[in-house]
Amino acid sequence: MKVRCMTCGKEYEISKLHKDYNKLAANPSSVFICEKCSKKISHSARRKKAKDHK
Ligand SMILES: [Zn+2]
Repeated sequence: MKVRCMTCGKEYEISKLHKDYNKLAANPSSVFICEKCSKKISHSARRKKAKDHK
């Protein structure tokens, strides 16, 4: 199944083994974020939170 990362806009082919496959198959309009971007997002989110605490 082809999905497009909403963050970098790249198309990815995901298999049934992908953790988000069932979610995306059931609801094709649900958001897909590739591993690279989700790592970046969780990383920057953590940094933002840490900054807010200071
Ligand atoms: Zn991406």
